Amino acid sequence: MCGIVAYLGEKPAQPILIEGLKRLEYRGYDSAGVAFLEGGKIRVQKTSGRISALEAILEKPKPENCLGIGHTRWATHGEPNTVNAHPHLDHAGKIALVHNGIIENYSTLKKWLTEKGVEFLSDTDTEVAVNLIGYFYGKGDGDEEIKRGNNQNKFEWAVQRALHEIHGTYGFAIICNDYPGMLIGAKKGSPLILGIGKNEYIIASDASAIVEHTTQAIYLSDNEMVTITADNFHSKTINNVEVTKDLKEIEFSLEQIELGEFKFHMLKEIFEQPKSLRTCMGGRLDKQSKRVILGGISSHLRELTRTKHIILSGCGTAFHAGLVGEFLLEHLARIPTEVEYASEFRYRNPIIEDGTVVISISQSGETADTLAAVEQAKERGALSLGIVNVVGSTIARTTDAGIYLHAGPEIGVASTKAFTGQVAVLSMLAIELGRRKHLSETNAGNLIEELSAIPDKIAKILEQSDHIKEIAAKNIEKNNWLFLGRGFNYPVALEGALKLKEISYIHAEGLPAAEMKHGPIALIADQMPAVFIATAGPQYEKIIGNIEEVRARGGKTIIVATEGDDNIIPYADHLITIPDCPELFQPLLTVVPLQLLAYHAAVLRGLDVDKPRNLAKSVTVE
Ligand code: GLU
Repeated sequence: MCGIVAYLGEKPAQPILIEGLKRLEYRGYDSAGVAFLEGGKIRVQKTSGRISALEAILEKPKPENCLGIGHTRWATHGEPNTVNAHPHLDHAGKIALVHNGIIENYSTLKKWLTEKGVEFLSDTDTEVAVNLIGYFYGKGDGDEEIKRGNNQNKFEWAVQRALHEIHGTYGFAIICNDYPGMLIGAKKGSPLILGIGKNEYIIASDASAIVEHTTQAIYLSDNEMVTITADNFHSKTINNVEVTKDLKEIEFSLEQIELGEFKFHMLKEIFEQPKSLRTCMGGRLDKQSKRVILGGISSHLRELTRTKHIILSGCGTAFHAGLVGEFLLEHLARIPTEVEYASEFRYRNPIIEDGTVVISISQSGETADTLAAVEQAKERGALSLGIVNVVGSTIARTTDAGIYLHAGPEIGVASTKAFTGQVAVLSMLAIELGRRKHLSETNAGNLIEELSAIPDKIAKILEQSDHIKEIAAKNIEKNNWLFLGRGFNYPVALEGALKLKEISYIHAEGLPAAEMKHGPIALIADQMPAVFIATAGPQYEKIIGNIEEVRARGGKTIIVATEGDDNIIPYADHLITIPDCPELFQPLLTVVPLQLLAYHAAVLRGLDVDKPRNLAKSVTVE
């Protein structure tokens, strides 16, 4: 899940690489490094720790070093120490490489290379890749295996030759000391973008490291590579067949990825939700015709309306959004829907009949397990749709069609505005499919009105941030929490628990409230806060019963309830309110106080909210 960045241009590369790495740091932050070509030699500087640790050991940038590669790591193979940090050099010290992904057959290749006399310094899979390139490179021009094609130099040939032996996933940026004006990028399964500026090129794992320099980019596809020189670039398949790539405009601005007045991206993104949802729903909710306009999937709506089976697949927060989607699609469109962890779906021989529709949900559009599920669905003949935030991402390009969130870049590792965006998209989809089936014009019209009122209601909830901080402060010493909800709010309980776990390292469990008495109630004690979502709806009385059960056993309650519900006051040790809203859209509101609760708990514990330990955003490895 690492971040890679590489530069070739007229400016000193070092500051550009460091700036780019800082923007990519959310992808991994256990070690970092850079490499430059200096006087015909490659010089690597790397260290364990964050980019700030790397900056502390870097020498002054040299104006003549206008070519370089950089990496911020999230270790998969080998502990996060300095030796395992990227860039890695081949044994001859001629080639340096940074890598995002996993070389699955690395142990076979390592054994083979060791037998050939290659020595390894690190425990990484990556070092095998660079040594393999180095091995082929070292075989030399005279080697009879080398039958180079047109426009193919020895460096390119060695890279291509090695890529044919590598199984797994990679985004690579590679330099070679014999080619001081050349940078090569290659991609399979991990994202890789080439930004094309004025007399400069930047390769990066995502557009955030590029947008400061240029908004023009090409997105490499799998099994493609790009060779860049000072005044030109050309892309090819790894079989040396030239491919013409379309120039794409990067659609977000620098401002969107900067912190502004906020201390953390997560808080900024929580507060952005009224705006991100307005953008997500803008132009899609047609109050006049009482229809939802989903341009991206318009040519598939007939098939979708007729389907007898929808599978929603995602991981983590996207899986929770999928659970809300299941309720919405079954309730409004009466289409049997199931939700699958993408990581399980792909390995369990799923039943995909004629007409099954698989909808994959991923903020980044790069989640490895979700992408594999997309491929599985396509292979088995399903219509494959995506609900994705990052425009042009791999899932967006691999699915048959899709709906973008338009939530703007999400940098905080703990997903917030993407969750509400995903739920909003699923709500719109359910309304439109319902409308095409049995949902009356009046009902659809009411739902559209309710949905368009959500952003203002979220803005009201955000006003309670300080109050929620006080609640977090009063419970900050508690190490185990329960999150409970019913119906549409059950997935929100799961999401609330996940948020608390991932950024504050507090153990939390989310459950359907009625399940509590089938086991977890044994845990209830005054040291275990129980967070209930007890908003107005058909199950209100039932959840009051569950709250009684907790209180009877001395448990302390934090309750999210509907504004004006005075009945709930005696049950709540702490009360948070949301504006009134139909039950089916409540997840868009009830999740917001839980995001804030997790955020404040993490800050109060002195943790780095945007860089939780062991985690990284955009899980591009399995
Ligand atoms: N497998 C490489 C390593 O452990 C890259 C990891 C990644 O992309 O997440 O260093």
